Amino acid sequence: MIRLHDTMAREKRLFEPADPERITMYVCGPTVYNRAHIGNARPYVVFDVLARLLRHHYGADSLAYARNFTDVDDKIIDTARAEGVDPSVVTDRYENLFLDDMAALSVLPTTFMPRATEHIGEMIAMISRLIETGHAYEVEGHVLFHVPSDPDYGALGRRDREAMVAGARVEVAAYKKDPADFVLWKPSEPHVIGWDSPWGRGRPGWHIECSAMIERHLGQTIDIHAGGLDLIFPHHENEIAQSRCAHAGAPLARYWLHNGFLSMAGSEKMSKSLGNVVTVAELLKQGHKGETLRLALLSAHYRQPLDWSSNLIAQSKATLDRLYRAAGEAEAGEPDPGVIEALADDLNTPLALSRLSAIDDTEALRASAHMLGLLSDSPSGWFQGEGDAGIDARIAARAEAKQRRDFAEADRIRAELAAEGIALEDTPTGTLWRRP
Ligand code: AMP
Ligand code: ZN
Repeated sequence: MIRLHDTMAREKRLFEPADPERITMYVCGPTVYNRAHIGNARPYVVFDVLARLLRHHYGADSLAYARNFTDVDDKIIDTARAEGVDPSVVTDRYENLFLDDMAALSVLPTTFMPRATEHIGEMIAMISRLIETGHAYEVEGHVLFHVPSDPDYGALGRRDREAMVAGARVEVAAYKKDPADFVLWKPSEPHVIGWDSPWGRGRPGWHIECSAMIERHLGQTIDIHAGGLDLIFPHHENEIAQSRCAHAGAPLARYWLHNGFLSMAGSEKMSKSLGNVVTVAELLKQGHKGETLRLALLSAHYRQPLDWSSNLIAQSKATLDRLYRAAGEAEAGEPDPGVIEALADDLNTPLALSRLSAIDDTEALRASAHMLGLLSDSPSGWFQGEGDAGIDARIAARAEAKQRRDFAEADRIRAELAAEGIALEDTPTGTLWRRP
């Protein structure tokens, strides 16, 4: 039994997939023009845990999971122009780097990774349908979604109209019938990337791409749609309106999940525009392991804010060191029911992690850690290359313990090192150690 907090319902609901043999999930993916910061990684790590949980409950092949690449966007166009290259050079580069970052964080590949630029035909078809049904209109080479044509617009965030118009900071262009109307298609100047369409050469707006890719890969109504809190408005409201109006009222998603913000040093949110950003790549370069970063991201409940700090990283590393020692070389068995139960309660990762630390059975420990995407290494791999100074220090501590006849402590240190794959040999001239 899985319960998930649904933003639309504003409460936890029992998760009941429409078809348990094909559960459909979509997470809005990155705009590929720069490196992902650790805040950007939060949704992908969190919803990777959800994907693992769904596969555990419903079967390995039960989940159809799509995460897109937004590879046409004004920021991409600006970056490409500044570099003097084609936009595809920029998007190819950052797609690959994003996938490297995800792999480092043990985020499993999704079933589909659709690119916006490969779904222009689907977007044009959907926009045409919206025009035919009176939900969109063409003006001066633009096609706009007419918000007042959808009486249910805004149900997800339940903001009032004024707040939505102000919050969207959409251009209040003279050609708009209503200030809240948003762009489905816009014209491209001859030197800018564009595609031919019934409304002239142009490119899609951001929101329509997700609606079109969801329809193509997952269907009209999907089980789960997820992303960061900042996507609720306008992005998800607009996706909902487009899809519902194009599909004769069929809802876009049955459950809506949103993760809270990651902040840096107490600020509101890590974001490029605030300049308080640390990228996944920088953290890895500093020598932090991907699993350490992953555990840090999972240390708070996904709906809560998470303050990123060096202390959090250090704690996460210490926790993993402990878990790697405890699990030793054990193979994965069956996961602990307590850990599964915590995850099934709206992904309660803090509770799952505390239960993980209390598991005695090493096979259950490893399997439970796998549910969270942790302990994918062997202890010798995990501790490999770790300062030999650390090992020498512990050998010295063991010698000291022996001297004060604290043999329990001496044995504990020997066992701890053994669990890391380090064998000790006591010789008349001192203790030698070696890795296997
Ligand atoms: P973007 O590439 O900016 O669209 O962001 C990719 C994903 O990361 C979206 O789901 C955002 O909602 C999410 N996101 C962006 N900044 C943060 C943050 N500081 N904390 C948590 N999630 C974030
Ligand atoms: Zn989206």
